Formats: sequence, C-alpha cells, structure tokens
Amino acid sequence: MMDKLKLKWKIFIFLLAFCGVLLFILWLFQTVFLSDMYKIIRRNELHEAIELVEENIDSPNLRDILLKLETDKSVIVAPTRDFVKPETPMPDGRGGIRPETITETKEFNLQDGQVISLTFHAMITPVNATVSTLKIQLYIITAIMILASVVIALVLSDVIAKPLARLNEGAKKLSKGNYNADFNGSGYLEVKELSDTLNSAAIELSKVDELRRELIANISHDLRTPLALIYSYAEMMLDFPDEITATQIQTIMSETKRLSSLVNDILDVSKFETGAMKLQMKEYNITESINETVERLSELLRNDGYSIVFEHSEDVHVIADEAKITQALYNMLVNAVNYSTNDRHIVVRQNRVKNSVKIEVVDHGEGIALENIPYIWDRYYKVDKKHKRAIIGTGLGLSIVKKIFELHGAKYGVESEVGKGSVFWFQLEAK
Ligand code: ADP
Repeated sequence: MMDKLKLKWKIFIFLLAFCGVLLFILWLFQTVFLSDMYKIIRRNELHEAIELVEENIDSPNLRDILLKLETDKSVIVAPTRDFVKPETPMPDGRGGIRPETITETKEFNLQDGQVISLTFHAMITPVNATVSTLKIQLYIITAIMILASVVIALVLSDVIAKPLARLNEGAKKLSKGNYNADFNGSGYLEVKELSDTLNSAAIELSKVDELRRELIANISHDLRTPLALIYSYAEMMLDFPDEITATQIQTIMSETKRLSSLVNDILDVSKFETGAMKLQMKEYNITESINETVERLSELLRNDGYSIVFEHSEDVHVIADEAKITQALYNMLVNAVNYSTNDRHIVVRQNRVKNSVKIEVVDHGEGIALENIPYIWDRYYKVDKKHKRAIIGTGLGLSIVKKIFELHGAKYGVESEVGKGSVFWFQLEAK
C-alpha cells in the first residue's frame, strides 16, 4: 500500500513540476515579455510596410496598398511635411496621455527622378487590459492543470501499479515455496516480460526443489546403511581388539568405498541436473580408450572369475568428451558385472555402422523384464532392491549414463531378455 502511494505521489509531483514549468513560461510570455514582444512585432510590421511601399512606389495601386496598410495593420503613411501625429481620443476625454507609437521616415526615389519623403506611423495599443485578461485565463489554466495532474497521476499509477501488485502476489506465493504460482502480468510490455521471466524462474526453482527432495530422501537411506555397518564394525573392533579379522577391515573399507562412490555419483547427477556439467569435446581414439577401461576392470575382477573381452577390428576416432564416455561405459560394465549370474563372461563389441561407431556391452546375466526397461534409466530405480553385487551400485549409474549420451546427442539403448542377459549399447558419430 505504501509503495502504491509513493508511486502515485511521485507521478503527481512530476506532473506538477512539469505544469509549473509550463505555466511559468506561459506567464513570462503573457505578462513580462508581452509589451516588449508586441513592440518588436509592430516594428517588424512597420519595416514590412516600408518594404511594401518601396516595391510599389511607382505602382498605380499604391493608394490601395496604403489604405490596406492603415485598415489591416494600423500603419498610417503620410508625406513627411504633412505628417501630424494622429491622436487617439481618450475615453475620459482628457486627451493628456499620448498612446505610444513607432514612427519612421524614409525617402523614396521615384521613376521620374523625384525624391519624396514618407513618414510611417504604427500605433501601439496599450496592453494592460489584455494582460489582466490573460492573467485571469492563467489562473483558470493553472487550476485545470493541477486538477488534470491529480487525475493523470491517479490513472497512471493505477495502470502501472495494478499489474505490479498482481505480480507481487505471485512472488509472495513463490517465496513461500509455492512453485505453481502463475505470474500473470499483463498491461504493458515490461510487466509482461517480467512475468514471463518470473514464470520460467518458478519452473526452474520447482525442478531444483523436486530434485533436492528426491535426492535427500534417497540418499539419506543409502548413506545410513554403510555408515551403520562401519560404525558397528568399528565398535566391535574397539570392544574386542584381539579378535580383529581381515573381513571386518575389508567390510569397513568396501563400505567406505561405497559411500565415496555414492557421493561422487550424487555430485555428478546434481551437476547434470543443474546444467553445470560441460562437455570437453575433442577428437580421440575411442577404441584405445575402451581397451584401457576394459583392461583395467578385467584386471580388477579376474580373481572373482569375471572375464571381459573387447572385440574390435579397427581403430575409430570420435569427437566427444573422453572422460564422460569412459564413465558411461564404466557404469554399463559395472552393471554387466553386478547383474551377471553364473556366466561371468562379458563382451564389449565395437562395430562400424555407416558413419558412426556402435559400442555394445553384452552380459549373460539375469536380464531385465520388458516392463522394467523404460524405468531403469531413472534416478534410483532398481529392479531388485536386495541384489548382491560384486561392485557397489548406487542406483544412479544408468541415469548418469543417460545424461552423458543425451548431452552428446548420441543414440543409446538396451536389448534384454530375462534369464539370458542384456545388451547395453550406444552409438557415436565417427570421425
Ligand atoms: P544400480 O545398478 O546401482 O542399481 P543403475 O542405474 O546402474 O543402478 O541401474 C538401474 C537398474 O537397472 C538396476 O537396479 C538393475 O535392476 C537394472 N540393470 C542395469 N543394468 C543391468 C544389467 N546389465 N542386467 C540386468 N539388469 C540391469
């Protein structure tokens, strides 16, 4: 309410100041400068009359011109020797006060060589009466203008303030966490633009908020389990220091690892979601890169009976973010390992498909039921929540994979059959 009042008053004061300046100028011209300006105008008229007579001095129309000058312009022209200053009869008959006049004498050369002298005489009517009329008019104009200022200030502030007040209502709702607040600012372009901006800001905020809620709900669960395990093992080790086993230490270590990979995944997901993840595109040898990843992982898992083989015929170069593509491939490989059953043989296949290269990760594990396939790419989606894994999974793996391929504009997908295994694949444009 205060702000609205302020705007109203501000506009009113501006308008008033504007009117004041206008009225001052008007007053200056109408009263102070009036008689001076009038004299200047009369003098000009006198000079124009002289020029007119000079042009027509030999013309037969001269008499008409002189007559017209007298009637239209109140300029009396007479031969200088005959000239007698005309007197205006004073209304009270005193005749004492002479009206002001401008008089000029000029000599003209006639065609026949004669020189005549003419006196031009312009009457100056007293302006005092006019001035007092104008003054009254000025008072009236002033009153009208002040009234108009008030009305304009009221109307204008209403037009400006109403849409802003509406936007403010929405913004208040938004600040209380109501992201459905619909900003409906119409009235003029600036407000329309502001409301569009606020609307998209509300949508962005709601996205971030939703992600935050989801993450906190899921993560707190995932963090609690390994933390509880670590704590109980540490407690046991404290109570029975003589009975510390390698398994206990191993458990603490693997749970710690699980925690840190969870934290990394969460950071990745939030970076992808907020759009803070930027790809570092450059040309590289994807065949070589895949080979390294496969070798590293198969080395790690050899003792557990897993074998990972990379099948490829040629070296292919792509333009992509190597670290991200490696991360995606790694996540797919980790899944292939995690969801393998008795057959622990995993194949990574590289094929040229026209101008692109297709990478497949083939496992012979449990497979995914058709109805679950659309959901596996979602954050935290797990088909079976109680699965035992060789490598720690967070349920975020495939959602990160999906984001990476989407950012690259790459095709990706999965073909799977329950009991037989899955083929996760992606396709990048080859250089
Ligand atoms: P996580 O593996 O940590 O649970 P992901 O996002 O990597 O999370 O995978 C989501 C779900 O998709 C998994 O829980 C699993 O049910 C299913 N899944 C992923 N990869 C495979 C695979 N190779 N074989 C069978 N199921 C899979």
